[in-house]
Amino acid sequence: MKIVILLGAPGSGKGTIAGRLVAADRALRHVSSGDLLRDAVKRQTPAGVEADGFMKRGELVPDGLIANMVADLIEGMAGDATLLLDGFPRTLAQAEMLDVTAARCGAALASVVLLDVEDAVLIDRIAGRRVCPKCGAGFHVTNIPPRQEGLCDVCGTELVTRKDDNLETVRNRLSVYQAQTVPLIDFYGARGLLRKVVGTGAIDGIVDRVRQVIA
Ligand code: AMP
Repeated sequence: MKIVILLGAPGSGKGTIAGRLVAADRALRHVSSGDLLRDAVKRQTPAGVEADGFMKRGELVPDGLIANMVADLIEGMAGDATLLLDGFPRTLAQAEMLDVTAARCGAALASVVLLDVEDAVLIDRIAGRRVCPKCGAGFHVTNIPPRQEGLCDVCGTELVTRKDDNLETVRNRLSVYQAQTVPLIDFYGARGLLRKVVGTGAIDGIVDRVRQVIA
C-alpha cells in the first residue's frame, strides 16, 4: 500500500481535491480524518462523544483517538490501494504514530502534498462552504455552486453549513494549524517527501498539479 498525505490549512481544498482525484482513479482511497470524526460524533460512539467538544471549539482531538481510528482503517485496507490521507496527521506525534502503523502494515509513505493557500482565501472559502449532511458532498456558494441552490447535486438533500465553520472557530482552527500542523512541513521536508502545490486558481488546474506530484 502507498500513502499520500494531503497537508494544508482548513479551507485549503484537501477534501475537494481528494474527491476529484478519487473519482478519476479507482486505485485511490480517500480517508478524511474530519469525516471519520464527524461520523463518530453522529453515531455517538465513545470516540465520537470524546471528540465532540474539541471539534466544536476548533481544537484538535487527542492524538491517540484519531491515530487509532486511522490505524484501524489502514489495517483493513487492500494491499494494492493508494491511500489519500486528508487531515491526518496534524501533529508531530500523529506523524510518528502513522510511521509505526505504516511499518506494521508494510505501507510506504510516498509523498506529502502541501496545498499552499493564503489566509484571506482560506477564510472566504470556509465562509462559503456548504456540505451535504447525508452524503458528505462539498460545495461553495460561488466557487462550486450546486446545480439547484441549497440542494445537494448527488442526493438532493438540503445543504448545511458545518458547525465549526463560523468565523470565531475558524480563526481558532487557523491558529491551531499554525502552531501544531505547520511543523510537519519541515518534518516531511527533511525526509525529502514534501511537494508544495499552488492551491489557488481553477480547481481543474489544482487537481492536475497534485496529480503530477503524486504520480
Ligand atoms: P476537518 O474536516 O479536517 O477540517 O476537521 C474538522 C475537525 O476535526 C478539526 O477542527 C479537529 O477538531 C478534528 N480533526 C480532524 N482531523 C484531526 C486530526 N488529525 N487530529 C486532531 N483533530 C482532528
